[in-house]
Amino acid sequence: AKRDGSRARIEVHDGGLTDDEVDLLQLETDLRRALDGDELRLFYQPIVSLADETLLGYEALIRWQHPTRGLLPPGAFLDAAENNRLTSRLGAWVLRQACTDAAGWPAGLRVHVNVSARHLAEPGFSDLVAAALDESGLPPERLELEITESTALFAAEATLTAVSEVTERGVTLALDDFGTGYSAITALHRLPIHTVKIDRSFVADVVTQPSTAALVHGLLQLGRGMGLQVIAEGIEDLDQAEWLRRHGCAMAQGYAFGRPAPLPSRHGALAAEALVGQAAEEAAAVLE
Ligand code: C2E
Ligand code: MG
Ligand code: MG
Ligand code: MG
Repeated sequence: AKRDGSRARIEVHDGGLTDDEVDLLQLETDLRRALDGDELRLFYQPIVSLADETLLGYEALIRWQHPTRGLLPPGAFLDAAENNRLTSRLGAWVLRQACTDAAGWPAGLRVHVNVSARHLAEPGFSDLVAAALDESGLPPERLELEITESTALFAAEATLTAVSEVTERGVTLALDDFGTGYSAITALHRLPIHTVKIDRSFVADVVTQPSTAALVHGLLQLGRGMGLQVIAEGIEDLDQAEWLRRHGCAMAQGYAFGRPAPLPSRHGALAAEALVGQAAEEAAAVLE
C-alpha cells in the first residue's frame, strides 16, 4: 500500500513515519532555514476609522517568501511552527520586526501583532516584548497584541502573568476572531481586553442575514457596554461598511479598505496603491 514516491520516501515509511509526518519534518527544516535566512516577511493591513476612513494603524500578517513554492500565507506553515521550538523564534522575529517597522511610522499609528497562545505562555515572553520595544524605541501604547479566545479561555498561570506584565507596561490586548470560540463572553472576564475584533465570518453575512445582523448588533452593544474598542474584520464591500457604521462600529479592517501588503518603504514607493483613501494619503506622507 505504499505510494510510488521516491526511494527515500519509501525507506522513511518503513521507519514508521507517514507521508504527512515526512511533509511536516520537511516543512520544519525549511522553516528553520527561512528564519536563519531572509525569507519571512511582514505584510500590513490597514485598520481604519469607519466614520471617515482615517488610518489608525496596521495589523502585521506574516508571509513566507519560499524559494520554490512562492509567497506562502500563514495557514500553510504556522501549524508546523506551533509543533515545536520554532514558535518562540518565529514569534520573536515577528514582534521585533513589527516594532521596528512601526517605530518609523507617524506617531498616531498603532501596530497589531498576532501572538500564539503557546508563545504567550512561554517563560520570557514579557521580557521579549520589553526588548522589542526598547530596541525599536516604539512607545508601548502603540503596540496591540492580538490573541484568540482559546488563549483567553485556557489561560495558564504563565499566560496571566505575562499578560499583566505587558499590559502594566502600556501594551494593549485585542481579542481576535471574536464570537467564534466556545465562550466569547467568558474570555472577556479572564484577561484585560482592550479591543475585540468581530470575526469576518459574521461580517460576511451581516447585510444579508437578519440573524447574523442581530448577533453583530448584540456584540457591538456588548462592546460599548464594557467600554471596549471594537474592530470589524473582513469588510469586503461598502454595504457592510455602511451597516457597521450605522450600528456604531468605530473601526474596521478588510479588503474594502486595503489588502495586506508590504509597507511602502521610506525610500521606495512600493505599495501605496494597496492602500485606499486617506490611508493612501497618509502612506504617501510617510514617504516624504
Ligand atoms: P487574523 O489575525 O484573524 O487575520 C486576519 C486574516 O483575514 C488575514 O489572513 C487577512 O489577510 C484576512 N483578511 C483581511 N481582510 C479580509 C477580507 O476582507 N476578506 C477576506 N476573505 N480575508 C481578509 P492571513 O494573513 O492569511 O492570516 C491568517 C491568520 O494567521 C491570522 O488571522 C492569524 O490568526 C494568523 N497569523 C498571521 N500572522 C501571524 C503572526 O505573525 N503570528 C501568529 N501567531 N499568527 C499569525
Ligand atoms: Mg489578528
Ligand atoms: Mg481575526
Ligand atoms: Mg482569523
